[in-house]
Amino acid sequence: GDYQLNDINVTDTTCEYCAVGCRYDVLSKDGTVLGTRPNPEKAPINGISTCVKGKFSHSYATNEDRLTQPLLKDDGEFREASWDEALDRVVEGLDGIRTEHGPNALGLVASSKSTNEANYVMQRFAREVIGTNNIDNCNRLCHAATVSGLSSTVGFGAASVGVEALEETDCYLITGSNTTESHPVFATMIKQNVKDNDADLLVFDPRKIQMAEYADQYSRIEPGYDTTWINGLIRCIIVNDLHDEEFIEERTTGFDQVVETVEKFTPEFVEEKAGVPPEELKNAAETIATADSCVFCWTLGLAEHAHGTENIYAMANLALITGHIGKPRAGLSPFRGQNNVQGGGGDMGPVPNNFPGYQPVTDEENRKKFANAYDMDVEEMPDREGFRITDMFLAAEQGDIRGMFIQGENPLISEPNIGHAREVLETLDFLAVQDIFLTDTAEHADVVLPATSSLESNGTYTASTRHVQLVKRAIDPIGNVKPDWKITQQLAERFGYDWEFSHASDIMEEINGLTPIYAGITHERLERHSEDGGLQWPVWDEDHPGTPYTYADQFQTTDGLAHMHPADTVEPSETPDDDYPLVMTSGRVLYQYHTGTMTFREPGDMSYTDRSFVEIHPETANAYSVSNGDMLDITSRHGETQAMAEITTRPNPGTIFIPMHYLHGGANNLTKEKPLDGPSRSPEYKVTDVRISVAESD
Ligand code: SF4
Repeated sequence: GDYQLNDINVTDTTCEYCAVGCRYDVLSKDGTVLGTRPNPEKAPINGISTCVKGKFSHSYATNEDRLTQPLLKDDGEFREASWDEALDRVVEGLDGIRTEHGPNALGLVASSKSTNEANYVMQRFAREVIGTNNIDNCNRLCHAATVSGLSSTVGFGAASVGVEALEETDCYLITGSNTTESHPVFATMIKQNVKDNDADLLVFDPRKIQMAEYADQYSRIEPGYDTTWINGLIRCIIVNDLHDEEFIEERTTGFDQVVETVEKFTPEFVEEKAGVPPEELKNAAETIATADSCVFCWTLGLAEHAHGTENIYAMANLALITGHIGKPRAGLSPFRGQNNVQGGGGDMGPVPNNFPGYQPVTDEENRKKFANAYDMDVEEMPDREGFRITDMFLAAEQGDIRGMFIQGENPLISEPNIGHAREVLETLDFLAVQDIFLTDTAEHADVVLPATSSLESNGTYTASTRHVQLVKRAIDPIGNVKPDWKITQQLAERFGYDWEFSHASDIMEEINGLTPIYAGITHERLERHSEDGGLQWPVWDEDHPGTPYTYADQFQTTDGLAHMHPADTVEPSETPDDDYPLVMTSGRVLYQYHTGTMTFREPGDMSYTDRSFVEIHPETANAYSVSNGDMLDITSRHGETQAMAEITTRPNPGTIFIPMHYLHGGANNLTKEKPLDGPSRSPEYKVTDVRISVAESD
């Protein structure tokens, strides 16, 4: 801890749950977390606020089920093993497959829950030690379409604005984001601004989520038709001459093509397809176009589609034609999911197409730079993009992926189509899993390596607002666990590589030398800057103050201009028919986090939401003779499950909602593993056609 107070250790650190990036003091005694306390001086994003998870959900760290010793599976049963034995078995498993089938028969999965430093080391392990770009992480299952869409239009696959915009803008367009439950502290900022300063709030969502109650306008949209209503807004703005001609002329390309593309998205068409009435479309278009500043906020409801990247193009186009970008209070604000998916999931390069800092692996100069740094011949640095995680699961089905090493991810719940994911895990020749608990995925492993939780780790996380923030060890590591980066380093050592990192800060020294957007970031500097707002990347050198908002003068593209791409796909990949007449969409609940590895062990969180449920509109309930609390059979074209009915007007009559957190009754029993979004290879989690019936009781 930082200091002691009456035998209580006090450590300022960063929340391990979501990418809002709240910081607070963790109070601990005798290795147990007692609670957290606001420390606004070191919390540039949240000040004194946190949500229920940041405040109360840390007892998992000392839960009796924690993995404390490596496990090896012999004859189908796990037994405890020493680190030496377990690491040797991992090396043997990975090397055996590499020797027989080549390095590209292996797939590595890094963890967005883990630190930047751990993720950096994991990408180095994949490229230098194994010799493959087959490395990916859960960003593929959430905002990968955001990253691909924004990279090719404005440059950085990240939010362009930060806290100032969320607290002070004049207008918000929020879509596909249940902000109050998924990013609670951002929601508080927005609600406060709406209340105190009368900021305009427009919410477009298939569900009438809590944020809709604070909105000036809530528009219910059909899941899967986002390009339609966004193009409709763009058309409405242009037809009414409300676009920012000067901005378009000076700072963008591609406007003419956008004008042509949006032509067919008339108010009538938008109403027919997306369900938004013409007067709502017009009001929203005028509100956005005439606002002094506007922030465009979205989460996975916009990204997780078979044409997710096009959805992002459309959203970026809307910001660009109205000139609401490149300003302190106007811009694009995707709310990232995991605590460190921005940093560990993207910035650090544990992805199949980029080295750290979004430097493409297919570029010879980049390969030379990293090969030099790692003391390799450039020919040894893999030059082909690797498999995305979704493609790894499809490739494994074909026998092209034979072994996997998964750190801190639970694909058995998080991958689309759990049934498919299970079959794939069972067919692998070798599976190693590194985690803090024996997850459903880890149950299938040959070797399980126990890692430190966030509360036992040192390093950094990067928040949704591009704030890079320190993570500090608040309690001593439990049992015989090790930090993720150390485990990877010890594996590399067994393959004959000597990296010699002795602390996470050494790793950041290597990162900043190779990653221009992190060039000015060191742990020591973050410690100093934590009191004046932290450091938001890009931080181009050690004197650079960081970048609260991007694109003030130019976009991060070769010509400095934003490149608008047309988005003209209308239909989702599946549409309801007589056999599957309803659409299932998915999302989160406040008290749970992702696959529940941590929150399922929190009695407080479990007392609210210990099982899955299905939200169903009263009219639909009536049509299917469903009563509140009935157990429903839900069947899609891809799988089936059972969950308890909750009758509510949150979804529309044609849509049901199921949370994604649960193995039993969770949404991913029903979702599909393909088709995937072209550029990002993300699944279409948000649109699944289903039929329902009341389950027969035993
Ligand atoms: Fe943690 Fe996110 Fe809650 Fe903040 S809003 S306390 S970062 S889970």
